[in-house]
Amino acid sequence: MSGSLYAVYGASGCGRGIMPLARNQLRKIGVEADRLVFIDDGAGPDRVNGHRVVTYADFFALPACERHVVLAIADGAVRERLAARCTADGIRPWTVAAENVVVMDDVHVGEGAALSPFVTLTSNIRIGRYFHANLYSYVEHDCVIGEFVTFAPGVKCNGNIVIEDHAYIGAGAVIKQGRPGQPLVIGRGAVVGMGAVVTRNVPAGATVVGNPARVREKI
Ligand code: UDP
Repeated sequence: MSGSLYAVYGASGCGRGIMPLARNQLRKIGVEADRLVFIDDGAGPDRVNGHRVVTYADFFALPACERHVVLAIADGAVRERLAARCTADGIRPWTVAAENVVVMDDVHVGEGAALSPFVTLTSNIRIGRYFHANLYSYVEHDCVIGEFVTFAPGVKCNGNIVIEDHAYIGAGAVIKQGRPGQPLVIGRGAVVGMGAVVTRNVPAGATVVGNPARVREKI
């Protein structure tokens, strides 16, 4: 019987940041580095930073008793599509987290998360599947975060905030804390621009930018 096989899906910017975390996580449980590959379906080199790059079809064809994949692609819609395919093929979602991630009390993070170095999740937090929290992001107390949500580096998500599925929060954005029973809500699929200071609810599908953040009308 072949052993387990692990992959970081996406060999671009996001994947190259997640790979060292994945490798470290496996080293600590005694899995050899050659059991870890990149999956990338695009045209590119066959090795990246010392790891083999294979297509999804090739990964699926490699002998293994179990396959585990972390989706290291910042676009949440792409993650959703790939997650559905992996699940249908019996590939397990894999959560990869940097060693120095801080997780406090009563935090639930759904499967398939990618938590970069210096991320902090404080207490009483619910987070859905396939969350990405990039470098130096934090989530404060009593937040509820949906599925396929993406935080770029340095997102400050303060207390009592609800972020619905597929929202994308840009680098350095600050979201003002809500109140107990009256959270500040970032709607489904909303985009918060880099450096935005969000002081009010953001409607589903809207893009907000600036300080204070305002909806950017589509041209
Ligand atoms: N990709 C893939 N299969 C897909 C969609 C994307 O292998 O179905 C790969 C794509 O080839 C690229 C990476 O995922 O190498 C996404 O990289 P990109 O630079 O667009 O974004 P990021 O790394 O920032 O998420």
